[in-house]
Amino acid sequence: MRKALIAGNWKMHTTVVEACQLAADVAKTCSDYTDREVLLAPPYTVLSEVSHVINNTSIIIGSQNICWEGKGAFTGEISPVMVKDAGGSAAIVGHSERRHIFMETNELINRRVKGALAFGLMTILCIGETLDERDAEKTFVILEEQVRKGLADVDGADMDKIVIAYEPVWAIGTGKTASKEQAQEAHAFIRELIEQLYEKNIAEQTRILYGGSVKPGNVDELMAQTDIDGALVGGAALDADSFGRIINFE
Ligand code: PEP
Repeated sequence: MRKALIAGNWKMHTTVVEACQLAADVAKTCSDYTDREVLLAPPYTVLSEVSHVINNTSIIIGSQNICWEGKGAFTGEISPVMVKDAGGSAAIVGHSERRHIFMETNELINRRVKGALAFGLMTILCIGETLDERDAEKTFVILEEQVRKGLADVDGADMDKIVIAYEPVWAIGTGKTASKEQAQEAHAFIRELIEQLYEKNIAEQTRILYGGSVKPGNVDELMAQTDIDGALVGGAALDADSFGRIINFE
């Protein structure tokens, strides 16, 4: 049985005061779950403060990106050691905004994945096709390439720390959500691919999140799909009531 994971990506939003308030408000919406986990990925500048706010809860903290080295001359990057020091235990890697605005390649993303794993972080590898790729019927080719290259040289023994987030680029921040059928089809494809790359057991245990305009109004039907194990939420994660409703999906 895979535990659901609801992750909130705050992107480049929140000052210290706003972040602490939002984290405290989100914490109020959470109960002692046995079937789901909640993760917050605030900006680096507030990781520490948010960690303190959620200290006595089961909420997990993660960073929105990660470098592969513990320290060094990597201007503008954040290391797994720093994330852990700030109270984090997870990292998002390969978000579509990193891929498409900052031109991160599958190879670079793979270095980040391996770096995060080397330091024991839960690693959320984001993948997803653009609208042009979907229209050209290349969705599965792109997903396969992103999974294969993103997980290159990742050992099966580390797969319990890997979470895949399927986020169709055309659905991120646009208000357009993949239909439950489109999402399920992609998730089933990804799970099958993981089975090919590793083994059935690993594929069955790997959590695959859906991301792309997840809202209180669509979370229940998405979460009812066999291969959807959670959500990576952007916009709606900045509102504690909306995110609380998403966390408490039925
Ligand atoms: C995201 O940033 O990962 C995301 C899915 O954003 P939104 O929920 O706003 O579409």
